[in-house]
Amino acid sequence: MTIASFSIQQLLDAIQPSTGGRDILDPATGAVVGRAPEQSTADLEHAISSARTAQSSWAATSHDDRSDCLLRAANAVEANSEALAELLSREQGKPLNGPNARFEVGACASWLRATASFDLQPEDVVDDGEVRAELHYRPLGVVGAIGPWNWPMMISVWQLAPALRMGNTVVMKPSEYTPLSVLALIHVINSQLPADILHVVAGGRDIGEALSTHADIDKLMFTGSTATGKAIIRSSADTVKRLTLELGGNDAGIVLPDVDAKAVAQDLFWGAFINTGQTCAALKRLYVHDDVYDDVCDALVEVAASMPMGVGLNENNVLGPLQNKAQFDIVAALVDAAKESGARVLLGGDPVAGQAGYFYPTTLVADIDNANDLVTQEQFGPALPIVRYSTVDEAIEMANALEVGLGASVWSANIDRARAVAARIEAGTVWINKHGAVDPRVPFGGAKQSGYGLEFGVEGLKQLGAPQIISY
Ligand code: NAD
Repeated sequence: MTIASFSIQQLLDAIQPSTGGRDILDPATGAVVGRAPEQSTADLEHAISSARTAQSSWAATSHDDRSDCLLRAANAVEANSEALAELLSREQGKPLNGPNARFEVGACASWLRATASFDLQPEDVVDDGEVRAELHYRPLGVVGAIGPWNWPMMISVWQLAPALRMGNTVVMKPSEYTPLSVLALIHVINSQLPADILHVVAGGRDIGEALSTHADIDKLMFTGSTATGKAIIRSSADTVKRLTLELGGNDAGIVLPDVDAKAVAQDLFWGAFINTGQTCAALKRLYVHDDVYDDVCDALVEVAASMPMGVGLNENNVLGPLQNKAQFDIVAALVDAAKESGARVLLGGDPVAGQAGYFYPTTLVADIDNANDLVTQEQFGPALPIVRYSTVDEAIEMANALEVGLGASVWSANIDRARAVAARIEAGTVWINKHGAVDPRVPFGGAKQSGYGLEFGVEGLKQLGAPQIISY
């Protein structure tokens, strides 16, 4: 199959409805980006039944054939990377530059390639001369995938790539805030896949609910808030659906007293402010030892103040707006309440009234109580609370106090000391001297109420297969 290179207008022409639909507005300017189809549960039924029909022949292909499809899809994404990045920037708000829109499109290609490369062989569980038992992973059937608005393209690939690789067909439901990005990405990927194995149905939460109750969906991959994850557990119970739940996080970072504040400030900053703080596994609460507290605060202010925020298509900017008004209001309310409680604002905290777009300034809040809502709630925006601590035990207790546990980080000049602290933190991933660095080869998933099931690597493939023992 040849690989076409589409312009952004050609992508929009391919995905917009011929009539009707809903205007999608650029969160940085309010300008219309395009029109999204508003699909119904009848459209969902049609997609599921088509995916069901196509599944057996897809499952009958080899791993090598399916990997080839993913590799071709990666090439197609790359051939369209600039148009996809521009559409993503305009719809989601994230700048083209920095670890943002181009980075996200690049990650889509990397994850497709990596997922094509993993080797999942049957395992010999017992072979003692009397009993032989082998563990195989068969296709599950039709996989539903529901996604959020913060990394809409990359998370779609995290869901669809392992599902397809394992011989399943897929029906996706993008966030109602960022449907165009996902529709355009799937249009490009589908140019390299057999017909009907990958569907996308753009609609609201009713479509998500219908997917989670549907008897013909064998597994649901969900990435989004913990509240919605709990609703999906309940609504999928009657069909005993397999679930992978990547839910909300409120990641702690613990800075030990031996760090060089200036040396870690840049990595601390991006750990917290990547995608303008709208990242599941971003650093959302920073615990800093008394000995280095002022130095870390000063170094962070210096880095943060130098990072330009603005309209995503301007190449100078590396931070963008909040994606939507509801998220802007959450961040503003949390920072206002922190200010009222007497916490000290080091930077930001004061959005410009009347400004176009949902821009909230980069905000650092020091001398804040650990019980403050800006610490205990997932702010999901550019506002980082910095909590002071005196003993490592106290820092670990504060880090573990919440019901969520997606990621965490420990910052130290001494790896052994950092590893000892990491082992005591209740989180699915603990990074040392970095935060949020996901890798397609390394399993990723939440502890506690941040969800269950692993994504990425061979472990991620297993979650998209039905384990079956053959024993004789
Ligand atoms: P959300 O839960 O509001 O929505 C996510 C998706 O679920 C949307 O597509 C929405 O339409 C759909 N939905 C809503 N109600 C539903 C229901 N009852 N049944 C089925 N589907 C339903 O989340 P969001 O605001 O889009 O995303 C932000 C949240 O996602 C944050 O909490 C963030 O931490 C989390 N997140 C987690 C990860 C991870 O890997 N753990 C990654 C990205 C985002």
